[in-house]
Amino acid sequence: MNNAEIVDLTHRNLVDIYGCLPIALARGQGSWLEDADGNRYLDFFCGLAVTNLGHSHPRLVRAVREQAERLMHVSNIFHTEPTARLAANLASRFGDGRVFFGNSGAEANEAAIKLARRWGHRDGGGRYEIVATLGSFHGRTLATLSATGQEKYHQGFQPLVPGFRMAPFDDLGALERSVSDNTVGVMLEPIQGEGGVVVPKADYLKRVREFCDRNHLLMILDEIQVGVGRTGKFFGYEHTGVKPDIVTLAKALGGGLPLGAMIAKSDIAASLTPGSHGTTFGGNPVSCAAGLAMVEAIDEERVLENATRVGGAMLERLREIAKTCDRITEVRGLGMIIGVVLKHDARPVVDACLKEHLLVNGTAGNVLRLLPPLNLSRADAERGLAIVERALRTAPVP
Ligand SMILES: *Cc1c(COP(=O)(O)O)cnc(C)c1O
Repeated sequence: MNNAEIVDLTHRNLVDIYGCLPIALARGQGSWLEDADGNRYLDFFCGLAVTNLGHSHPRLVRAVREQAERLMHVSNIFHTEPTARLAANLASRFGDGRVFFGNSGAEANEAAIKLARRWGHRDGGGRYEIVATLGSFHGRTLATLSATGQEKYHQGFQPLVPGFRMAPFDDLGALERSVSDNTVGVMLEPIQGEGGVVVPKADYLKRVREFCDRNHLLMILDEIQVGVGRTGKFFGYEHTGVKPDIVTLAKALGGGLPLGAMIAKSDIAASLTPGSHGTTFGGNPVSCAAGLAMVEAIDEERVLENATRVGGAMLERLREIAKTCDRITEVRGLGMIIGVVLKHDARPVVDACLKEHLLVNGTAGNVLRLLPPLNLSRADAERGLAIVERALRTAPVP
């Protein structure tokens, strides 16, 4: 099928929720994608921070193929080696942790919320309320939607799940004032992704941690977008010197296969007892084999160093461009998550990049978000940034 045929067939049959671009992608290799008509694109989008090693990374392809040939699914009442090994890898990275596997970010956060409530009922004096932050994004299930601090996602889905309060992000005083006698924990992203690549002050997470410790509150970090190396460290919180009680991962964890994880300190995780939570597909051996290949590649192929070095150079170059480009108000980010904040909607700049076959994303209305593969070469970084610069200088202002 060609591009137009696939686009048309999609439009006629899928529930229309994604505002799709008119491109049907057929294959990918490294930082490059090809559509069904044979056009090539440089990928600074990565399936929304999922394909952190680029497309068809040989190590991932081999792991998935070998595991698919051997065994694709059993049930969580049996053990499999890839699941056991990935859990061990993640638990030891976190340090004295226990892992729950789901199939998506929303499921990982849903598990974190349920664990916090369970812990609250058992050890937390009956507390259940979670304070989340304005501008956050935690997923689309009803509970994770209720934890999401953006009203546009709530429209028409009320009533939301009770037990959530909102406080402004990067404002410790406001967070302190939002806590009540019923509060069991706080939930936030180390850098707000969908919210517009919002990087908090350097000591914010440390002060949230201290506040949680003083008040016997769980600190839950949603690292679904920034985890698995995106910021140049495996966990985003490693930049801050503090450790959360619960962290969630998904997006890049399965390298493109559906996989999410909630990792909790062992004593807290003990609140989830046999039969209290579960999912049929979570931690299936094929996704976990891909996840294992992902985390091993990150350790063995100097991926984090590259994300820090090339991402840092990109951030610098964009800040240089901003000095002579009126429509930019700020450039922010860390490693390979970069936001270019515009005075207007990002759409015309996204479209101008697309015309030159560079895939980028716009979020929070006016933020151009770059999420390149962590192993992006310097040459491709320069190629992509040349397109971004042209788009920033010439795209129409809406
Ligand atoms: C994408 C995302 C989610 C939701 O993940 P899904 O896999 O789409 O359910 C949750 N939190 C953050 C920070 C995300 O970026």
